[in-house]
Amino acid sequence: MKILKDNFNRKIEYLRISVTDRCNSRCKYCMPAGGTEFKLHDEILSFEEITNIVSVFAKLGVKKIRLTGGEPLVRRDIVDLVRKISNIEGITEITLTTNGLLLKKYAKQLKEAGLDRVNISIDSLDEKKYSLITRGSNLKDVLEGIEETKKVGLEPIKLNTVLVKGFNDDEIENLVNLTKDNNYDVRFIELMTIGNTSNWSRDRYLSNEIVLKKMKKLERVIKKDKNSPADYYQIPGYKGRVGLINPISCGFCSNCNRVRLTSTGNLKLCLHSDVEYDLKEYAYDEYKLEEKLLEIIKEKPKEHKLNQGVIIKKNMFQIGG
Ligand code: SAM
Ligand code: SF4
Repeated sequence: MKILKDNFNRKIEYLRISVTDRCNSRCKYCMPAGGTEFKLHDEILSFEEITNIVSVFAKLGVKKIRLTGGEPLVRRDIVDLVRKISNIEGITEITLTTNGLLLKKYAKQLKEAGLDRVNISIDSLDEKKYSLITRGSNLKDVLEGIEETKKVGLEPIKLNTVLVKGFNDDEIENLVNLTKDNNYDVRFIELMTIGNTSNWSRDRYLSNEIVLKKMKKLERVIKKDKNSPADYYQIPGYKGRVGLINPISCGFCSNCNRVRLTSTGNLKLCLHSDVEYDLKEYAYDEYKLEEKLLEIIKEKPKEHKLNQGVIIKKNMFQIGG
């Protein structure tokens, strides 16, 4: 069987797909203040194109799919897409990253369609602060979404918090305490300086070392496993875990098994690189796509250059995180 292996012997088994660049929220570190232009419907991959591309990836050994965005739940008929992907032979896990605002409406349908798990982004547990960082979204909608997700059994739930200096460093304890009675992975992600929000993010970076400084009771349970860029910690006796994700000095590159597909059908071999390969043009030619992928994958860079001050131009809502 042909498989996707790069020049550094890394087997690619995980594909993240941004299904739209649109979003129902406007997080300050993700969307620029002056607004932005979104892609036209025609430029975005159709469901047929996505499923064709996923089928070829699956044939070449990809097992895990994550749908992201923009906000994946604003894409019309997203539940159908989940169902279609979960029926593709070889795909053993399908997950979704969402801001959670529409989960109350969709969690049950997503579960029934075959979704395995969700990651939910939540940067504050305070209504006013949440509205501030998202430029107007409603925390209540996310909290109700989390409850519904639990209710329908889309578990374990991962909650992602981007640490922003002077904004949510005072909430670390409250966020960690969510793991006391809930089987959540609460994961702190360091702010990345990326795309059009670079200026906003530059002075607000906070190392997630602060989590360990503030929460002395945390004990390490997992040092980065193959499938996750997070180091995991736990307070003894608590049900959930705390994950720390440092995208800059993560040391994850040597195990990186993932590639990304943008909403317009470009393949990114590394989150932190602007190099992309158009796959949309091969979406209806299975054999050509297979041949191209086997060739392109060899170009996956050994490691990223973020720690050397390189800033990529694409915005996070275009890549999907
Ligand atoms: N809209 C969905 C959401 O917010 O979860 C999915 C797309 S969003 C681009 C994926 C993840 O990227 C989110 O967890 C978000 O917090 C994170 N993200 C966006 N911009 C970021 C930045 N500048 N630095 C670090 N993480 C960022
Ligand atoms: Fe939307 Fe997610 Fe970006 Fe926030 S982080 S603006 S929810 S895409």
